[in-house]
Amino acid sequence: MALVIAHRGASGYLPEHTLAAKTLAFEMGADYLEQDIVASRDDELVVLHDVHLDRVSDVALKFPNRHRADGRFYARDFDLEEIRQLQAWERMNADGTAVYPDRYPARSGDFRINTLAEELELVGALNRQFGRNAGIYPEIKRPAWHKSEGVDIAPLLLEQLQSAGYEGRDDPVFVQCFDADEVRRLKVELGCPYPLIQLIGDNSWGESPTDYDALRSPEGIASVAEVADGIGPHLSHLAELETVDGVPVVGPLAGLAAEAGLLMHPYTFRADDVPPGFANFDDLVQFFVREVGVDGLFTDFPDRVISLLED
Ligand code: CA
Repeated sequence: MALVIAHRGASGYLPEHTLAAKTLAFEMGADYLEQDIVASRDDELVVLHDVHLDRVSDVALKFPNRHRADGRFYARDFDLEEIRQLQAWERMNADGTAVYPDRYPARSGDFRINTLAEELELVGALNRQFGRNAGIYPEIKRPAWHKSEGVDIAPLLLEQLQSAGYEGRDDPVFVQCFDADEVRRLKVELGCPYPLIQLIGDNSWGESPTDYDALRSPEGIASVAEVADGIGPHLSHLAELETVDGVPVVGPLAGLAAEAGLLMHPYTFRADDVPPGFANFDDLVQFFVREVGVDGLFTDFPDRVISLLED
């Protein structure tokens, strides 16, 4: 059965990456809980999707003068003690409107941004008390940028995973990254003992120095298979969604990945943001599970995917 990966927690219901969102995802029965990892000024690993704080917190109210020239507030410019003072909010657009208006109310709730260590403790405690083995799925965010800012996240992450008791491939953990050089380094240089997932984006996003057009080619996928256990592509990379007759078809990347023996964990399955070509969320999930044959799905709505997979 395909793995259900709670994308930033049960982020369809509670502000992303808060311990509340992770606890809810655990209770829903997600197989894996995702952590995005960025570094604070004092080199603490915090769980945040962006290197910026301003779209998911009240940082601009509490520290109005601490933005950079581009107007953004960077986690790297704040000590953990300062980040702890922030309220974590449902994700906003640049103009302050909610990205997903039907989700948790904007600028509300008493939520905090937490460290990776705190989240690992939570997952460990819940697993022990409920007799479960829910996994973790940390992503190293923008490693090249972080190194240019004087911090190397990968070794810090591996140390924390070891001290939290994750020893190797038999433990429920995947490590993911968009940067192909970093995935290779994790495997070859740092001897990462955990399964690795190469995330695949579009070059237009500027997410990393990696050329994703090249990475999706047969040669690119072969090079990924040398170091990684799977790929994490956008769902539009695995299927052609907007066809002439309106019926989505499986794309070539799915075949390449399957041939190379790579797991497929596409993102992001959102009940309130169903892409064209699908009548509803159920059709979307069923197509990727049955037609594309994915091994796991990143979703903001773990409960919905779990109930579909159980049918
Ligand atoms: Ca992520």
